[in-house]
Amino acid sequence: MRALVVTAAHEAAVQEVAEPVAGPGQLVVDVDRVGICGTDVEFYTGEMAYLDLGYAEFPLRLGHEWTGRVSAVGQRGDERWLGKRVTGDTMLGCGQCSSCAAGRHHVCPNRYEVGIRGGWAGALAEKVVIPTRFAYEIPEHVSLAAAALVEPGGNSLRAVRAAELEPGRSVLVLGSGTIGLLAAQFALAEGAEVHVGGVREGSLALARELGVAHTHQLAELTHSEPDRFDAVIDCTSNEAMPALAVRLVRPAGRVVYIGLSAAPSLVDTRDIALQDITAVGILSASAGLAGAIAGFASGAVIPDSIVSEVVSLEDVPSRLEGHRGPDAGPGPKVHVDPRLP
Ligand SMILES: [Zn+2]
Ligand SMILES: [Zn+2]
Repeated sequence: MRALVVTAAHEAAVQEVAEPVAGPGQLVVDVDRVGICGTDVEFYTGEMAYLDLGYAEFPLRLGHEWTGRVSAVGQRGDERWLGKRVTGDTMLGCGQCSSCAAGRHHVCPNRYEVGIRGGWAGALAEKVVIPTRFAYEIPEHVSLAAAALVEPGGNSLRAVRAAELEPGRSVLVLGSGTIGLLAAQFALAEGAEVHVGGVREGSLALARELGVAHTHQLAELTHSEPDRFDAVIDCTSNEAMPALAVRLVRPAGRVVYIGLSAAPSLVDTRDIALQDITAVGILSASAGLAGAIAGFASGAVIPDSIVSEVVSLEDVPSRLEGHRGPDAGPGPKVHVDPRLP
């Protein structure tokens, strides 16, 4: 089968690789759609911290935001999965350690991450393997675009839950990329007064199309008065934003960190303690996957316009370099159909 392989920093190509086989407790999924994410770009450029930490090494098979149909099962009793539309958790905990036993498999020290950690082949390919216990069924009426946005959707939903919003409460989402826009949509679905801060006017316009009434340029927020929002969710990769989030949240408010900057981002903990602020970090979609599927299935969140274009595997290296096709829409997310020639 064909798969995208990153062989070194800034070197990626479609290769013919062995078809995966489902082992006991595993499913083989024919991939219908897969998203390219900032993490994939960081691996492609060689900047992803896991490369230095030894959690990942080239050659790499990327792709962790995916949907497809189960085409093979690895053990008797799993036949009911055949033909089902699915996505899967990225975080594949070992199932044996104390973290896994406590329901926190997303921080299992022995985990694989699909397309990211430990060499588990990702979904930028015609097929991907997922353990049955980490597979999630997706209703047939959910669009392909939305189905492949369940993983970033789960991340965003967890960030919104961590903000503990109530109807009418104000939340500022810093960043108008995929995670930021999805977080804004889930916050709108909870009835919050949603603000989005970003840089690119096109994605702020998209935020307004999605129903966000208040959009701001980040530079304007940097100079605005403090203590303005009940919660702030940082979805940027800008190292100045974590401290800005603390400045802009009201006393006793909540700050949620889901974005990662390349350089350390410094926050003065006196600002957190003296304002009685709760700061929360979010890693992974795991506990948000079911909720994201439910939100897309009910129509409470319709994320399709976040996708700018659907390209082939052959197009992926150019997209990882940051290029966009001539017909690309304003959305931040590039999707890949591995069957396109
Ligand atoms: Zn991602
Ligand atoms: Zn474990």
